[in-house]
Amino acid sequence: MADSALPSGTTLLIKGGLSLTPDADWHEPAVADIAIAGDKITGIAASFARGERSDLEVIDARGHLVLPGFINAHYHSHDVLAKGTLEEVPLETWRLYALPPQYPPRSAEEVYARTLLGALECLRSGMTTIQDMLTLYPYQDRHMDAVMKAYDEVGIRVIFALQHADRKGIETIPFWKDTFPAELHSLLSTSTEPERQLDLIGHFETTRLKVPAPPRVSWALGPSSPERCSTAILQRTIELARRYDIPVYSHIYESRGMALQARLTIPEYSGLLIQRLAKEGVLDPRLNFAHSVWLTPAEIDMLAEHGAGVVLNPQGNLKMKCGIAPIRLLQNAGVRIGLGCDNCSCSDAQNMFVAMKLFTLLAAVSDPMPGPPQAIAALRAATEGGAEGARLGGKLGRIAAGYKADLTLIDTKDPTWSPMNSVARQLVHIEAGRGVRHVLVDGKVVVRDRQLTTLDETTVYEAVKAVLPEFRRDFAAISQRVAKLQPYLDRAHRQIMTAELDIERLPFGSN
Ligand SMILES: [Zn+2]
Repeated sequence: MADSALPSGTTLLIKGGLSLTPDADWHEPAVADIAIAGDKITGIAASFARGERSDLEVIDARGHLVLPGFINAHYHSHDVLAKGTLEEVPLETWRLYALPPQYPPRSAEEVYARTLLGALECLRSGMTTIQDMLTLYPYQDRHMDAVMKAYDEVGIRVIFALQHADRKGIETIPFWKDTFPAELHSLLSTSTEPERQLDLIGHFETTRLKVPAPPRVSWALGPSSPERCSTAILQRTIELARRYDIPVYSHIYESRGMALQARLTIPEYSGLLIQRLAKEGVLDPRLNFAHSVWLTPAEIDMLAEHGAGVVLNPQGNLKMKCGIAPIRLLQNAGVRIGLGCDNCSCSDAQNMFVAMKLFTLLAAVSDPMPGPPQAIAALRAATEGGAEGARLGGKLGRIAAGYKADLTLIDTKDPTWSPMNSVARQLVHIEAGRGVRHVLVDGKVVVRDRQLTTLDETTVYEAVKAVLPEFRRDFAAISQRVAKLQPYLDRAHRQIMTAELDIERLPFGSN
């Protein structure tokens, strides 16, 4: 077969890789050439003629898989430095370690270093886009500027939301108020906490939404969770999201305690948060709900009806003793599904291969009867699902002409790939990230031969090293404080786990 003519304007050619284009067989993809001009894919063909173009950059992708870059659809850069600090811990207790209100204000250097490090880890594991739902508390513009500087320098694509809430954490967790003596209540701030110095949404709109976003950054909004947000603040959030047509990311029903809290506090909505949101007029296709472990079947149907989506984060859900998301029910209802790796303190690894593998394994145990194959569903959730949730489904998440050239190349000269029986299944069940060799964002090679090209990686590690003593000192102080609270935390947790609830999402049957 004759070579196809190279589309005009092509600046970069990825030649000879097994490419996961939308219409390919993802178990056995064919070799394809991908032409790129600037930041976009301009064409795909079995083989493009290189012609006499001496200015054309060519990446030899023979022996490689070419994937749409992964989209980490739920991530928080604020606790990147806390990776590996905790073992299994109930979600409600974990919140005392993980969130910025616990800590003294951070230096701009620390904010910059942690943002760089998190982005580096994500890129090196084949993610080209991250949704950073960041808590900056207390909010300072210099922190926000440090974050944007880090993202600009490292070259990853970011869907950025500031996390906000207007209800105190202790008000939103079952049994805490009665279990802890009043003198300890001030130690229990657990979320973004009401912003006292600033109207955060108003500030964000004035300073950021009204001006073009930095390169590769797009804006989103981040109401922490329905129970931590008043009707007024949720309605304001959705009103802004509709006006600017931007996505909204929130948490819902991560733990049994969050479902219980809804049953106990909103009887007027049958104890169902999704029903509350529907009645408040804020359930919208722009919404993405991280976790969604304890949704009832009726709520799943409501999500599908309103076009709202979920982002599953299986790593953290297991480590925080939360349970297993109803993956099959969500799929059967046609709910949009993305995948994320959440905080570093609860998921540790920013690794989409781990998230995809857990997705398929937990889908298998989320229903006793045999279900459909899940490897391709996991890959689609990690790419197209995240793109659609970000309202970028026509631009990201696929290898197709007109789409952004955000690509990950995996070297198959590795035992993982011998024999190559199914690319999709081996990507999900065997590859762990070792094969990620080159990563492109906006048509630019940001990882080449497993090394960041935009910055010297050593400078990232040095920046982290410089801020670690302060972080470690503050983390140790928090750990000591949690240790003092432990008997009360355990008592409240036992109550959460043994209280009656109408659904069950735990594999170990605690009730
Ligand atoms: Zn989260």
